[in-house]
Amino acid sequence: HHAKRRENSICPYTQTMRYALQRRQLMSERLSAAISEQRLQLYFQPQVDLTNGRLTGAEALCRWHDAEWGWVSPGEFIPLAEERGLIRGLGDWVLEESARQLMAWGTQNKQALPGRLSINISAQQFADPELTQHIAQLTAGVPTNAISLELTESDFMRDLDQAVEITHAMRKAGYALSIDDFGTGYSSLAYLRRFATDALKIDISFVREMLDNRHDRTIVQTIIAMAQALEMKTVAEGVETQEQARLLAEMGCNEAQGYWFGRPLPADEFAAMWLSPA
Ligand code: C2E
Ligand code: MG
Ligand code: MG
Ligand code: MG
Repeated sequence: HHAKRRENSICPYTQTMRYALQRRQLMSERLSAAISEQRLQLYFQPQVDLTNGRLTGAEALCRWHDAEWGWVSPGEFIPLAEERGLIRGLGDWVLEESARQLMAWGTQNKQALPGRLSINISAQQFADPELTQHIAQLTAGVPTNAISLELTESDFMRDLDQAVEITHAMRKAGYALSIDDFGTGYSSLAYLRRFATDALKIDISFVREMLDNRHDRTIVQTIIAMAQALEMKTVAEGVETQEQARLLAEMGCNEAQGYWFGRPLPADEFAAMWLSPA
């Protein structure tokens, strides 16, 4: 083993870094191809009303299956897409596919729409001052009130004035807006008010430890209180147990999403399980 390392005279650290870089390069090439050949998939995760367990909507989550690597986590390929300038192409596809799916469900049965469909928008999409019109074009045929846009908290901080402007344009067009992964960024009360969002999505990291860690419980309670004061809804992310669901409901959290209620599913399975039959 040792002899071999000396032989090619590259220290193991450099070697590891080189492999990581090569994998990222290869991954961005394959991801780029998967986007342009429309080989990504959308999964749908139910969002429920915590007071009665009823479906209020779904979140569209992007999935990528590579022939050699199998499923690649969005936690890996979304940041890569952002870094390599692929996120706009990916984001456009997600918007078009979401619209196609909503129209397919709506045509089968008007009663069978999943409520609002939440779509994740990344920082770089958000940098486009014409984003609202762009979204409307890509989802033409779907009423804007059938779509909720999820914006990540930290993305707002890059250009506050532009963020305020875009969020107002989105609201004016009829989209619902929520702030994703709330609690992990830097929003202040004053800014939150200016963004005109409808909902805060309480980050999974607080929900995960909520039952055992009283500080996390306090953070969750505080987010809910703040949202109520600002007349926004709260949606808890990553609810995995009945105890978490019960505590969140007691605390006044409005909606939840998580494995306890349902995992993200391909469109047909989601429809079979969650939408009323045609
Ligand atoms: P996110 O928007 O916060 O989405 C929620 C994530 O939590 C999803 O991870 C979902 O599968 C996961 N999740 C849901 N319930 C549970 C639970 O009970 N326990 C646990 N441990 N996890 C749960 P996923 O699908 O891996 O996506 C990760 C992130 O990738 C998303 O976080 C989002 O930021 C990004 N992403 C996914 N799809 C898209 C997309 O179409 N566009 C953009 N821009 N970003 C996306
Ligand atoms: Mg999200
Ligand atoms: Mg997100
Ligand atoms: Mg999140």
